Amino acid sequence: MIDVTPVDESLFASLAPPRLLGSRCGECGTVVFPTAKSCPRCSRAGMALHPLADRGTVWSWTVQAFCPKPPYVPPLGGFVPFSVGYVDLGDVIIEAHLLVDGPQLEIGLPVRLALETVVTADGYEVVTYAFTPDGDAS
Ligand SMILES: [Zn+2]
Repeated sequence: MIDVTPVDESLFASLAPPRLLGSRCGECGTVVFPTAKSCPRCSRAGMALHPLADRGTVWSWTVQAFCPKPPYVPPLGGFVPFSVGYVDLGDVIIEAHLLVDGPQLEIGLPVRLALETVVTADGYEVVTYAFTPDGDAS
């Protein structure tokens, strides 16, 4: 049993181990994240829930160098630039916070899904998703 609260339960298929939840179109096979009720490609309704892979590769990345607008909440000590990018999970590419040191970041870097604790605007600790370098990838 894991004692954490997700920032949004609909993002996760499970928390231990962490797995993100997307949707897959039964008609054309398009996978989306977060979940959707209809397909953005063929407009078919009735997408099926689809747990996403927990490993992928960095598709592109950048450094968020200025404080984003709300609902982003900067850390108590103040805003610190962070890495963000797109991760290719095989059947979908998703945007995510990258818990990777700047010099290590590169397109194609193997990464693994992780939980990241953040504090909401009203002071609650919740977990969201991020990706860390996948040391086991070869
Ligand atoms: Zn479709």
